[in-house]
Amino acid sequence: MTDEKLTQEQADEKLIDDAFQELLDRYLESRHRKKVEIITKAFNFARQAHKGVRRRSGEPYILHPIAVARIACCEIGLGSTSICAALLHDVVEDTDYTVEDIENLFGPKIAQIVDGLTKISGGIFGDRASAQAENFKKLLLTMNDDIRVILIKIADRLHNMRTLGSMLPSKQYKIAGETLYIYAPLANRLGLNRIKTELEDLSFKYEHPETYQEIESKLKASQNERETVFEEFTAPIREQLDKMGLPYRILARIKSPYSIWNKMQNKHITFEEIYDILAVRIIFTPRNEEEELNDCFNIYVAISKIYKPHPDRLRDWVSHPKANGYQALHVTLMSNKGQWIEVQIRSERMNDVAEQGFAAHWKYKEGGGSEDEGELSKWLKTIKEILDDPQPDALDFLDTIKLNLFASEIFVFTPKGEIKTMPQNSTALDFAFSIHTFLGSHCIGAKVNHKLVPLSHKLQSGDQVEILTSKSQKVQPSWINFATTAKAKAKITSILKREKKEFQMRGEDLLSNFFKEEGLEYNELNVQKLCALHNLKSGDELSYKIGQKSIILGEAERNIFKEKPAPTSWKKYISFAFGNNKSKQTDSVTSQADTASLNIDKKKVLKLTPDELQKHYIIADCCKPIPGDDVLGYIDDNNRIIIHKRQCPIAAQLKTSFGNRLLAVQWEIGKALNFPVNVYIKGIDGIGVLNSVTQIISQQLNVNIHKLNIESNEGIFEGRIQLFVHDVDDVNTICTNLKKLEHINKVTRIENFDDQITE
Ligand code: MN
Repeated sequence: MTDEKLTQEQADEKLIDDAFQELLDRYLESRHRKKVEIITKAFNFARQAHKGVRRRSGEPYILHPIAVARIACCEIGLGSTSICAALLHDVVEDTDYTVEDIENLFGPKIAQIVDGLTKISGGIFGDRASAQAENFKKLLLTMNDDIRVILIKIADRLHNMRTLGSMLPSKQYKIAGETLYIYAPLANRLGLNRIKTELEDLSFKYEHPETYQEIESKLKASQNERETVFEEFTAPIREQLDKMGLPYRILARIKSPYSIWNKMQNKHITFEEIYDILAVRIIFTPRNEEEELNDCFNIYVAISKIYKPHPDRLRDWVSHPKANGYQALHVTLMSNKGQWIEVQIRSERMNDVAEQGFAAHWKYKEGGGSEDEGELSKWLKTIKEILDDPQPDALDFLDTIKLNLFASEIFVFTPKGEIKTMPQNSTALDFAFSIHTFLGSHCIGAKVNHKLVPLSHKLQSGDQVEILTSKSQKVQPSWINFATTAKAKAKITSILKREKKEFQMRGEDLLSNFFKEEGLEYNELNVQKLCALHNLKSGDELSYKIGQKSIILGEAERNIFKEKPAPTSWKKYISFAFGNNKSKQTDSVTSQADTASLNIDKKKVLKLTPDELQKHYIIADCCKPIPGDDVLGYIDDNNRIIIHKRQCPIAAQLKTSFGNRLLAVQWEIGKALNFPVNVYIKGIDGIGVLNSVTQIISQQLNVNIHKLNIESNEGIFEGRIQLFVHDVDDVNTICTNLKKLEHINKVTRIENFDDQITE
């Protein structure tokens, strides 16, 4: 017994020693200064702090901080300070040691980073944080102190995603959802391209395991074909590059399963219809630093002599890098087989930046200064400004930030010719707010390329924008509809809120005077009477309207206080007749009954049986899942379980904000129930098309057409069909059979009957 325990312990020790040695070896291979001593000290400290603790997978806990440190070192390119902080990142969180202890042992810098990491750690796995959104806000705030906090946090998340298999399924959705919602965009924003892709793929794999496998195997099956295309396409390019005499390498870039799936979903196309799974990457070493940009364009000129370039698809991120630092020249060329193939041209330096992001920037900067983070620090400054304006609703805040995380950029010019980076789809109003809040809040219009345009005008790259203002102009509520940047939205909301508050206070004064004059008390009951008179929901709304002068207190208001109260019995009759109270009561009775009979064990995967479905579960109206779809359950405020598709955008928000209310659920319906589903078809109009479509559907057993809408325009017809089916298999069979029909070239399931399909 003791012997066995000893061997287990010894085996663990060896595992830990080996893992740490490997970390050290990789660190010593890097270009950083060799500060082995402090790293070893941090490791030994963390090792004894986590002693005897294991992860859910059963392995010793310390292996996790070692793995995070390794990611920080090898995959993000960080140095000894970050490696130490990564090794220590869970010590304050999970043990009795404090930040002061860390500071005494390792100095203020490492302690500060560990402190930042501890502040944002709650709620990632625990149940402590109420809303992940709050956490994200904290995370962005710490980012401002030291960008390394967020980089290590991303390393932490990456390792947790790599080992997600040992978590509870309901936790998996929360973590995977959060990763897709926050961490992948953040990694992207910081230029950590490779990590972003891996985070997305891992989330996808856990949320849609079967679809993931399917795409993987299709990728494998088509690999040989792609290799042939790659060889044939690149042979003449190599010939040209050899002549130019630059050292270079050519790589095949294969689209990731997640982005393939994303494209299939967004464009409603099949795997086979995605034409850009293969792209070609040319990575070269410039003759010298000054020639780097020229070399990019010279390569472009050389290869566009071989293949015809697509006129609209030249993306120049060489002279205008993306905000995350990405630089490359993207061109799309027509192969000899008539296929468009994208070619990405970058130098070795640009390639490092593309894979490792800002960490790579530092590598190329003399003296390792982080002064010149340019775009990144500008972005962080915007975020800081938004955070400085207190926003009560954390979720709103999260959405506005996300708008900026995802946006790709355009370049516009001020009248003085200064260049400004704006997110795509920015309007003239956004531009005004990006220059100055005063300019934004007083603008009346704009001149784009010297032509007068409204504030809602969407800007294009290269536009020159001049903002026209007037002192008497004020922020209008409608502006929120055409502000798209986080900054403009946040400013508009906060200005409007402030104004509303002012009106409200003015209204309260007027109201107080009114009551005084009438000899009435300023109380809830009297306020409610006035609200009822004007059909308003709250006293705040009432005082706002009064302050804003859309309600003037006068005769009508005085009269209601003179009326005698109605007899009680009569009042009762009214409320009963209109059924208000009654329906409310029934509701609460049912939900009580539900609560009593709902015995939720979050550790288990709940089975969705027909019986349960009719009693407690509700199919979400936003995404309308049917049996066979990948779904999850969400416990709402009334203790009912709402079933969402895992990729539903509403569910994505729930995962991020209410991760603890998620349940893993599985369909066990069989063919017992019918569910509505919508299918879209498009093709060339001809005699008998409708006939063959309906025939195919009726061949499928027990499937009924509920609604049908066919529109024909210039020989092309578009059809929308609502069917009642049992499960995903039914829809898939019908879609496959419809696709076989001649003249039909698109068949796809859509969420809502009138969803527009754009190609
Ligand atoms: Mn951790």
